[in-house]
Amino acid sequence: MLDASGLMVFYENMLALNNVSIECDENSIVGVFGANSAGKSTLMYTLSGIMQDIKRKEEMAGGERITVLGEIRYLGNDISEVKPSLRAKMGIILCPERRRIFKESSVIENLRIGAYLAPSSKAKETLEYIFEVYPALKKLKKRIGGFLSGGEQQMLAIGRALMAQPRLLLLDEPLLGLSPLIQTILVRSTREIRDEKGISIIVTEQYARPVLPIVDYAFILENGAAVMEGTRDELLRNPDVRSAYFGV
Ligand code: ATP
Repeated sequence: MLDASGLMVFYENMLALNNVSIECDENSIVGVFGANSAGKSTLMYTLSGIMQDIKRKEEMAGGERITVLGEIRYLGNDISEVKPSLRAKMGIILCPERRRIFKESSVIENLRIGAYLAPSSKAKETLEYIFEVYPALKKLKKRIGGFLSGGEQQMLAIGRALMAQPRLLLLDEPLLGLSPLIQTILVRSTREIRDEKGISIIVTEQYARPVLPIVDYAFILENGAAVMEGTRDELLRNPDVRSAYFGV
């Protein structure tokens, strides 16, 4: 479904992504694991096209020079030059790091904002589905986003992404700073979303362990380069990967 190859991103002379190639098949969950600054968010911005916007804004402001190279193919088409808004319409939806919900708006308003790309016929059905996956949100419909707990905010961020009708959902560090219990709930619901809606998912995390049970395939990023890849079992069998990323 997604096949990105030779991705390179420079912030000025700093190489943030170094010849990264990554694939995601239909109906699968792909993990991208790496320490702080490994390039996870840069990769997600590049796949979703937001990097193009960041680059343009920097150019307009006379700021740093950003260079993006490589090819991204999605459903058989080369989308490397396709604008982020169009990529979103094609089904590539990013749920960014640090849960950027609208803190002054209510839960339901946040979800409706996510539907601006989707036909209204699907909005109602999707809303019901989100409340099924995250019953906690249903009870908090009218609550202001900023008053939700971290876990609830993450559910809302994923819910908002679902309202945009993704075919490929990009989850950037969804578990960051959350308790193990909330992490378990979020990981389970992520698998449910793939199983029930057939949405493919690329998920980045610093620590692989909590998401390992649900990933089909994973990549390890170090200093902007994909240094290793394999199925969950292949990576688990590698002692270096086990101790560095899986904590086992
Ligand atoms: P984290 O877990 O901290 O979010 P990450 O794996 O997502 O890390 P990135 O945010 O992609 O890493 O950053 C990769 C590298 O690029 C880092 O060294 C970071 O400092 C640098 N970087 C990111 N954004 C910019 C920018 N706009 N200008 C310059 N350098 C940047």
